[in-house]
Amino acid sequence: MTAAGAEAIAVALAGTGAEVRPAEPSDVVGGVLPSCVASPATVDQAAGVMAAAAGLDLAVVPRGSGDTISWGWPPARCDVVADLSGMDQVLEYAAGDLVVKVQAGVRLGQLAEILAEKGQRLALDGPPGVTVGGAVARNAAGPLRLRYGLPRDLLIGITIVRPDGALAHAGGKVVKNVAGYDLGKLFAGSQGTLGLIVETTFRLHPLPDLSAYVIEEYRESAAAAEAVLAAAASPLQPSAVELERARVGGPIRVATLLEGTPSGVSARAERMRTLLGRSAETMMAAPDWWGRTGEASPSGMTTVVAGGTLVRVAFWAAELRPVLDAIDTVAGEAGVAVSVGGSAGAGVLYALLAAGQDPGQVAVFVRALRAATGHAAGPDGGGLARGSVVVLTAPAAVLEAADPWGPVPSLGLMRAVKQQFDPGHLMSPGRGPGGI
Ligand SMILES: Cc1cc2nc3c(=O)[nH]c(=O)nc-3n(C[C@H](O)[C@H](O)[C@H](O)COP(=O)(O)OP(=O)(O)OC[C@H]3O[C@@H](n4cnc5c(N)ncnc54)[C@H](O)[C@@H]3O)c2cc1C
Repeated sequence: MTAAGAEAIAVALAGTGAEVRPAEPSDVVGGVLPSCVASPATVDQAAGVMAAAAGLDLAVVPRGSGDTISWGWPPARCDVVADLSGMDQVLEYAAGDLVVKVQAGVRLGQLAEILAEKGQRLALDGPPGVTVGGAVARNAAGPLRLRYGLPRDLLIGITIVRPDGALAHAGGKVVKNVAGYDLGKLFAGSQGTLGLIVETTFRLHPLPDLSAYVIEEYRESAAAAEAVLAAAASPLQPSAVELERARVGGPIRVATLLEGTPSGVSARAERMRTLLGRSAETMMAAPDWWGRTGEASPSGMTTVVAGGTLVRVAFWAAELRPVLDAIDTVAGEAGVAVSVGGSAGAGVLYALLAAGQDPGQVAVFVRALRAATGHAAGPDGGGLARGSVVVLTAPAAVLEAADPWGPVPSLGLMRAVKQQFDPGHLMSPGRGPGGI
């Protein structure tokens, strides 16, 4: 892009009222330096930015906190970063209805503080610094997913800006209002490839009076898997069942979260200890590995890996033991070191391969794990049933050698949706499955 071209873009976008500035090295997205960064403060400004960008055939990548903006495929083009972090207003909070409507740039920690004043929470335990728009765009959740599900499940209304600048709404403040096209389900997990999420309405839950963690350690995957499944399915209603194994063949730690009234939690914790094993302990604070998928980012706001590879393995929870064993076997064969953690009770584990390992061997690990968990074979193939192995972040050489998404069964449908929302391929082009 020439200086004159960049200047023309800045002038066109500044006419929308949004703050616009030339991009700096810190604005790079997966190695691609955009021309400028546009920061709208209102829905109208966001719509204006998108319309002006579309008029100039500019590729746009949305950004929340930016902590994971470079995860996955780099964009094929990126002219404008649409920075939503300035859209950080809580628009309506109906505590009596357990509903909140916020702009997409509101941070989870900021929202948690406001809701806590009324004894409520958004049951989305991601890092406090991430934005609700980013969390919805990723459809990612922390340990509470076992009980409360994903952002998609907590979202009851959404406003988006289409790539051509048109606004679209779905849902609303009333929880039962699900009539019409379900934009929320479509945009949850859209990874910035369909449009800008500008406002979201969520259902809320009461904050528990007390939380307690019951923790046990196991030598064998069979015993750990049995404990996880028994805890997750038990009438003790844990809010989360997490697992951690720092190295292949090492001890496996399992922790369950119990929430509720002090007397109820104390009685349930007692029974959970019996269920988990003789040396199970109750703690009032989370273990240091709780909800952690990697190392802390420089901002301390989220969990990322610096130069390492983070892989999400999703599976039927009943298949936890074979999945743990497959990770061991495949890591051994590929000659890589792996730590594993995550929401085992909900069928999600994160495999972290620290920086400095051979990218070719890391890619061998990813591909072999796909084969072993049934991802590569598809739903009717061999391996386990319906596993999925997605590379969330990795060095470029690993992404090239082991496509981050792997085979995607519904790719045709995803392409059709992309074509309908973004026929000009201007939203985060090339970042989705199959280069969408
Ligand atoms: C326990 C745990 C589990 C996690 N699991 C996963 C996981 O399974 N998968 C995963 O991908 N991440 C996962 N993450 C990462 C986490 O979800 C992201 O760091 C965070 O939610 C993104 O928010 P952000 O504000 O930092 O967005 P950014 O890092 O700025 O952006 C993230 C993505 O969302 C898009 N985006 C951001 N804002 C908007 C918007 N308003 N409208 C449209 N698109 C937007 C961006 O273009 C980019 O693709 C996990 C994190 C934790 C702690």
